[in-house]
Amino acid sequence: MKPFYHLGTVTRINIFVHWTTVVMFFGLFLYYLWRGVSLGAALAGVLLIAVVFGCVLLHELGHALAARHFGIGTRDITMYPIGGVARLERIPRVPAHEFWIAVAGPAVNLGLAAGFFVFNLLTGRPLSIDALLPPRTTIPGMLMWVNLLLAGFNLLPAFPMDGGRVLRAWLAARLPYHRATRIAAWIGQAMAILFGLAGLLDFNPVLVFIGLFVFLGARQEVRAVAETERTGYGYPGPA
Ligand SMILES: [Zn+2]
Repeated sequence: MKPFYHLGTVTRINIFVHWTTVVMFFGLFLYYLWRGVSLGAALAGVLLIAVVFGCVLLHELGHALAARHFGIGTRDITMYPIGGVARLERIPRVPAHEFWIAVAGPAVNLGLAAGFFVFNLLTGRPLSIDALLPPRTTIPGMLMWVNLLLAGFNLLPAFPMDGGRVLRAWLAARLPYHRATRIAAWIGQAMAILFGLAGLLDFNPVLVFIGLFVFLGARQEVRAVAETERTGYGYPGPA
């Protein structure tokens, strides 16, 4: 089994799907059938989740295109069950660049949410959060709320998630880079523990995995910065 499946290329960036995501989609499909829904309804359910993944992919492309604007390429974008990852060639050391690249992803989701808001308003569909859950689910209403939640969740200061990068950029404009990173990472790891606990109490494995991913990611970034500071290699950033 291949670990990654090539989905296509968008603006010269390769898009991959991790095998666990393929398994998750297949599992969801079987789960819908097991619940006794028709084949068509099961396919529609999976298609809707695929559309949500499409919104996450556009979020990642937002990061990638903002990075390109600052001269930083993106190796690839991979879709995992808990979200997408855009692998930038390097993390910008200029705080303003890191800030704009970090906010570009959630900005895409806010733009999509605004688009669905206008559509729902013009077509007289419900705007309340009821649209997210049965029995009042509408697909445009659900997509509006999902995009709002994606933007909001990613902007939490859980470094190395987007909000945490905004925080590091803000701190790095005022403090030495390694100190800014360490403070952002402490806050990120505290948030990660909260995600993990909330996920365990709520039996939400996705939140537990996000907590784990944030916790390890924060530690990795602190190490990478410490290494760069020690060797002095690759330090084009601000004074
Ligand atoms: Zn993001």
